[in-house]
Amino acid sequence: MLSLNDPLLLKTQLFINGEWVNGDSGNTFPIVNPATGTEICKLASGNKNDTNTAIKCAQNAMQKWRQLTAKYRTQILKQWHALIMENIDDLALILCAEQGKPLAEAKGEIQYGAAYIEWFAEEAKRIYGDIIPSNNANQRLLTVKQPIGVVAAITPWNFPNAMITRKVAPALAAGCAVVVKPAEATPLSALALAELADRAGLPKGLLSIVVGVDAIEIGKALTDHPLVRKLSFTGSTKVGKLLIKQCADTVKKTSMELGGNAPFIVFEDADLDQAVQGAIASKFRNAGQTCVCANRFLVQRSVYQEFTEKFIEQTKKLIVGNGNTENVTMGPLINTDAVQNIHALVTDAERNGATKVLGGAASELGSNYYLPTILTNVTPQMRIFNEEIFGPVAPIIPFDTEEQALELANATEAGLASYVYTQNYARIWRFSENLENGIVGINEGIISSEVAPFGGVKESGNGREGSKYGIDDYIEIKYLCMGGI
Ligand code: NAP
Repeated sequence: MLSLNDPLLLKTQLFINGEWVNGDSGNTFPIVNPATGTEICKLASGNKNDTNTAIKCAQNAMQKWRQLTAKYRTQILKQWHALIMENIDDLALILCAEQGKPLAEAKGEIQYGAAYIEWFAEEAKRIYGDIIPSNNANQRLLTVKQPIGVVAAITPWNFPNAMITRKVAPALAAGCAVVVKPAEATPLSALALAELADRAGLPKGLLSIVVGVDAIEIGKALTDHPLVRKLSFTGSTKVGKLLIKQCADTVKKTSMELGGNAPFIVFEDADLDQAVQGAIASKFRNAGQTCVCANRFLVQRSVYQEFTEKFIEQTKKLIVGNGNTENVTMGPLINTDAVQNIHALVTDAERNGATKVLGGAASELGSNYYLPTILTNVTPQMRIFNEEIFGPVAPIIPFDTEEQALELANATEAGLASYVYTQNYARIWRFSENLENGIVGINEGIISSEVAPFGGVKESGNGREGSKYGIDDYIEIKYLCMGGI
């Protein structure tokens, strides 16, 4: 049992229309701690009827909400932010227990997630329209920005808090209502957020959380419903593509934050210690289960050996274990399937000529743990070069010229994050502009912030979360043409 300061933050029911309910089916399912394999609690399992109820209530609730002043919406969002920060210790414990990341990282995620609420509380007041100079002297042209309608948000297990606030905060700020379907593995953080939103005075129905054992059924209810005008999805590219198709019948606006395959490029003129520090942060945060994780280390041949040695030395310092234990810097993976998938990629690479220079096996700690791993002599033909690893494995690939590095970096359908390490300013510009990614970290391994636009190109998706652009996904522009003047 989790030892929380406020035990009421651990919820075991769905949150629909401002009420805690058991759901239509009356069924429950277990939430399991990936670090220990023990059950944290049982949770009510939602279905399509629960989802439809939440959507109808959302539509009703937003009619009033959209008419309120932006200032009022700001106050509620700020209150929600304050309550999250007050309860950060409990929220981090819940997150660590259901997801596995170390407690310090879990706290970092709560802070990061809350920052989106604070940011969009402020942005709510800046949803400006335009006055457009007309071609006709008798007309005046203007635009107003209006909430798009009910928003459906489907989120993954790797950031059970922040992936929700990045969507819900701009949607509420814009005047929309939201129905969230968190991942089956990590719904407790979402439910705790809903409890705090309720305490902050968010009117009933504006935020509902429906989760259950059948993601396909709930997803279909969200994508088929004509009242849902927008789907914001974070997850795998495979499911994203399916959901885009499902949204076509009702022509919903979609934003898609999908999988990545980030290149991490180290040139011979880089500060290698800085590059190794960035590599550790980018690769091993959340045990390698982030969409912006460095997936392929491209290192110029002249510094390949030195970089690899320094990288191994620093990686050996990681302490793997239950995230709830002091000093642990890397937790378990989300489940045993994840461990097996990652090991299959490592085995395939080795079979095709890669060399295991560190790790490369499941850990003795249990079936959900994998050792921090470094592979050298990786080639673009290997599966590990082309697939999102989503685990603590760093494949290193040598290159000779800048042209070759660019070709390798862009040789993927994914286009989320990339990282470049060099001290050459001309190259920084030239190279960054030619990378096919939505985000470029330059001599920097940690790039996410609520003030900056987060999102991908190519098959990594569309739309941007955070920043002054993040609200655009939740509004429609209405053009007013006034004649007879
Ligand atoms: P996933 O399998 O695509 O699941 C994501 C969400 O979609 C979960 O809530 C899941 O529900 C739900 N889902 C699965 N199948 C569905 C269906 N047919 N209809 C409706 N919903 C469905 O991805 P994941 O394994 O949880 O997350 C890892 C992926 O997310 C990685 O590819 C990662 O790169 C990506 N990601 C991207 C970003 C970004 O900002 N670009 C951020 C974080 C993660 P259940 O879990 O309940 O099955």
